[in-house]
Amino acid sequence: MKPVAPDHNAPSDGPARKAVAPVICYPVEGLPAPDLAAYRAAREGWTLTAEVLVPPREARCFSVPAGHFFRIVSVEGPQVGDLNLFAADGLGERFFSGKTRALHGTHLSTGDRMWSCLPHLRPMATITDDTLDWYGFDAFGGSVHDVIGTRCDPYTHALLSGGDQYHHCCHSNLTRAVADRTGLPLHAAELHVHDVLNVFMCTGFTRDTGQYFMKASPVRPGDYLEFMAEIDLLGALSACPGGDCSAEHSSDAAACHPLLVQVFRPAAPAKGWQPPRRNGYDRSHGQE
Ligand SMILES: [Zn+2]
Repeated sequence: MKPVAPDHNAPSDGPARKAVAPVICYPVEGLPAPDLAAYRAAREGWTLTAEVLVPPREARCFSVPAGHFFRIVSVEGPQVGDLNLFAADGLGERFFSGKTRALHGTHLSTGDRMWSCLPHLRPMATITDDTLDWYGFDAFGGSVHDVIGTRCDPYTHALLSGGDQYHHCCHSNLTRAVADRTGLPLHAAELHVHDVLNVFMCTGFTRDTGQYFMKASPVRPGDYLEFMAEIDLLGALSACPGGDCSAEHSSDAAACHPLLVQVFRPAAPAKGWQPPRRNGYDRSHGQE
């Protein structure tokens, strides 16, 4: 957080320096764009192949073959979800929240993609529909589906609470779910849990202090976020103990609801779609 009364005076040209217009770090015009119309057309006549109900304050894993679709659906009441994605053939390729944020911005919506970590850096999933896209940005700078938070975790909670032990943070829920699915010991599974896509969560940074904030999610039962899997995926979704995240997380105080994951098989793959190739960098890192 920047100090209200800084130690150092601005130089004489300080105002001019602050007035310099920003440039976008990563102009995404050069990114291969998904053919969203073709993706969406592939939904015609699709078949629901699996449903996974994620209980409140718990997480569950689900599988989605490449080219299939999945939806995260609000049921019963307002609830946010913390989503991890892995390549189905190896937990080493996982969602890269930081680079996804750098490419697409602080909050994701239709047409944006969830990118995998280095050295893979390829699209894992593409968002094909978002019933909360009407929200845009509010007057506080808040929006939904962020890649700026991490996931609530018991370590930060212990730091801030003076040592309180809480076991149903998204980090722990995801850890148990990944351990259950893979058979890995709990502490090995924990190392694969990573920063999430905060599905339905409404967040931003305060304009004056730049602090991460949350507010009540606008999600209502029936709302969903829909993806097409670009590669074979293992997903893990936690129904956050913060519920709609209007007040607090990392406790049993908030009203929590389940989340539903639905997986759909298209009648035929999206026209022209091919699974993304491996990243084009040669990985020599300049060494002869
Ligand atoms: Zn959480």
